[in-house]
Amino acid sequence: MPDLRFDGRVAVVTGAGAGLGRAYALLFASRGAKVVVNDLGVSRHGDGSSSNAADKVVEEIRRNGGTAVANYDSVVEGEKVIKTALDNFGKVDILINNAGILRDKSLVKMTDQDWDLIHQVHVKGSFKTSQAAFPIFKKQGYGRIIMTSSVAGLYGNFGQANYSAAKMGLVGLSHTVAKEGAKYNIHCNVIVPTAGSRLTEDILPPDLFAELRPELIAPVVAFLCHESCQENGSIIESAAGWAGKCAIFRSNGALLRSTVVDDVTVEKVRDKWDQICDLSNAKRMTSAQESTGALMEALEGLKNKV
Ligand code: NAD
Repeated sequence: MPDLRFDGRVAVVTGAGAGLGRAYALLFASRGAKVVVNDLGVSRHGDGSSSNAADKVVEEIRRNGGTAVANYDSVVEGEKVIKTALDNFGKVDILINNAGILRDKSLVKMTDQDWDLIHQVHVKGSFKTSQAAFPIFKKQGYGRIIMTSSVAGLYGNFGQANYSAAKMGLVGLSHTVAKEGAKYNIHCNVIVPTAGSRLTEDILPPDLFAELRPELIAPVVAFLCHESCQENGSIIESAAGWAGKCAIFRSNGALLRSTVVDDVTVEKVRDKWDQICDLSNAKRMTSAQESTGALMEALEGLKNKV
């Protein structure tokens, strides 16, 4: 089997001046893609700004014989990030929404600013870049988008109410973009990484930090963006050279009334609670239609019962 290459492709990687984004940018460039290295150069809390982070990665790519340009805009102005790709390379094929910051506080101590800033960077930033790239992808009949979620979003994590909400918001955004893009060969998937970076340096034990190299996740992201990869609308968790798919499952549930004229009472809910929560025969749900269809099937049981 030939190597998977990205020659002729243009990849935009946001937050590519450090950590995971840097690893993605270096890998895409080493496989032939022209890369826009976007980075606002902020602190991990989102303060300040600097062109250094993006410049360093662009230099690194060029030293290795690759092609890259820097962009220093905030992802909140996503259209400017995409414009850099068009101005320099005339097109864009791949968009990795990776830029991110943390503002951890317990729920009660969280300020409006902590909440808003996290949603601006993670959710609005990914929305703006994706919205700007989508019409270009549609016209050329090809596009690959990655959204970056987190185990904190999927499963929750103490002190990260703002970040968890934003990261799960990106799962919803990705699922919808995947559906809107499918017929134009625009695929959108979610990566759920765990990597040693400045976001995790004071959280992870040192030996684990060293093992969780971002370079071990980059090939998973790159494969998802290859033209030969048909994955769309999926959530892929990856760390330390491991990757696995996450999905949303629903229990078979329980009918809370025996005839069409019955009411649902709180007591009936209590009595059926074990059945409602029994995941032993749970089904994977991948669309609102599938969910409604399964509901209609369950309601069939009520027909003819008066
Ligand atoms: P990092 O801090 O090393 O890199 C993030 C980069 O994004 C920084 O260089 C920063 O300057 C840039 N950035 C921040 N706000 C920006 C903005 N508004 N516009 C443009 N650039 C901006 O962090 P990382 O660990 O590599 O994280 C990358 C992504 O992965 C983030 O979305 C993060 O939430 C997510 N993530 C990371 C982990 C992990 O274990 N490291 C786990 C789950 C999710």
